[in-house]
Amino acid sequence: MRKKNTVLILGIASIVILITVQAYLILNIWKQKSDSFGIRYTTRSNEAYNYIRRNLETDGFDTVRILLNEYSEKAYNDLQTAGNAEEYDAKKKYVLDYFTKLVNTEQDLSSLLSSYFEGRKMESKFNYKIVFNNLELIGKDTIVVYRSEAFASRRPPGTGDRGRRMAPTGNTGSEILVNWFWLEGNYYRLNLDYFIDYSDKQQLILKETSASLGLSTFSILLVGLMFMVTFKNLREEQRLSNLKTDFINNMTHELKTPLSTITVAGKTLEMPFIRQSDEKILETAKLIGKQSVHLNQLINMILEISMWERTQFQLDKKSVDIEEFMNDVVDSFKSGGGNGATISQKYNFNGAKIDLDVVYFTTLLNNLLSNAVKYSDKVPVIEIEGALQEDNIFISISDNGIGINKLDQKHVFDKFYRATTGNIHKFKGLGLGLYYVRKIAEAHGGNVAVSSRPGKGSTFSITIPKC
Ligand code: ADP
Repeated sequence: MRKKNTVLILGIASIVILITVQAYLILNIWKQKSDSFGIRYTTRSNEAYNYIRRNLETDGFDTVRILLNEYSEKAYNDLQTAGNAEEYDAKKKYVLDYFTKLVNTEQDLSSLLSSYFEGRKMESKFNYKIVFNNLELIGKDTIVVYRSEAFASRRPPGTGDRGRRMAPTGNTGSEILVNWFWLEGNYYRLNLDYFIDYSDKQQLILKETSASLGLSTFSILLVGLMFMVTFKNLREEQRLSNLKTDFINNMTHELKTPLSTITVAGKTLEMPFIRQSDEKILETAKLIGKQSVHLNQLINMILEISMWERTQFQLDKKSVDIEEFMNDVVDSFKSGGGNGATISQKYNFNGAKIDLDVVYFTTLLNNLLSNAVKYSDKVPVIEIEGALQEDNIFISISDNGIGINKLDQKHVFDKFYRATTGNIHKFKGLGLGLYYVRKIAEAHGGNVAVSSRPGKGSTFSITIPKC
């Protein structure tokens, strides 16, 4: 039990560690891929932009420049007419919104980049984002319409406003900075950053990491499976070891009974008054003989079992009339005692002859019949039925005994298995009878099954091919 728990704890701990390590590795791989994606796609975007600059001789903002120039003079004059600070601020906001709308709707850079990527069969699905850093209207004075904090801190203190071309901040999150722009006209100066964001980025990285992800998942599943198999084997091993211990206890008990009877009988024979009566001597000798035979049977059974383990069953089959054979076995069982059981037989064999090993098959039937008597808490009533079913012989033996619960039904044919009630010595046994039954049925190419209701009785059914 302690061994099982240790394996369980160690197994679970190692799986948890494995999952943690794998998750950590995957996360790192993801991060690396994401970084390298950023670098790769920044290079591509810059290449694309440079190509457009060089070969198409545009930066994608030509139309924007013209329109802004026209509008900014009007905007500057309009700002001059503001009556108070509130109106002035409202007008500035309007100007900023108008600039933003104009730049976004009239820029051609996005479509130029798209066609560049498409032309080179590169990932071309992206969203763009234009971020204003600084917007100034220039007339007699310079009006700062908008200036981002980042831009303000980028400008060295004490320097003038004109001509400062400070480097942009760089990529932000998943967005890639393609370039930063100074757009200037007679009445305005605008600084903006142009970003693109690949909408399929996650899928692209997933595709790239899928091999490592798949392998990790597979290794975790494999380890989990191995753990489950090992644990199942361990449980089975423990169950068998428990069964063996039960068997040894039961066997010792079974062997001790005839042995102690023989010992007592021997002592009895030593008594002078017993020796004076021939009748008593004969009675005791018969008892010794009977118990010796029983002892011998037990030992033979154990020897036979170990022989079966080592060698394959050797059947000595011959053709028998199955109905006659059944009648003979049942008759000799009845004459051997049968414990007052009422046995009824109903056969429908149509005179069929089948090939079987008479000795082994008799053992099979006797084991079932004696169990039907043994596991009974009332006067045993046994019904035997038999019929020919296509190419098979079907035999069932039903009793009105204590029955077998569902869990035990699964194991009763296992070696050494005794149902829970069987282990308390009310019903003696070694847990081998039904094991024999199954082995013999299988050796004849057939099988055996049980159906039972605890408290009502059990039915054992055997199916054997005719030949
Ligand atoms: P044994 O009788 O020596 O215990 P068996 O292999 O013949 O071993 O039977 C295995 C177990 O199946 C028994 O311990 C008993 O609990 C249960 N069993 C077998 N036959 C019957 C039956 N006819 N009715 C109820 N229980 C049965």
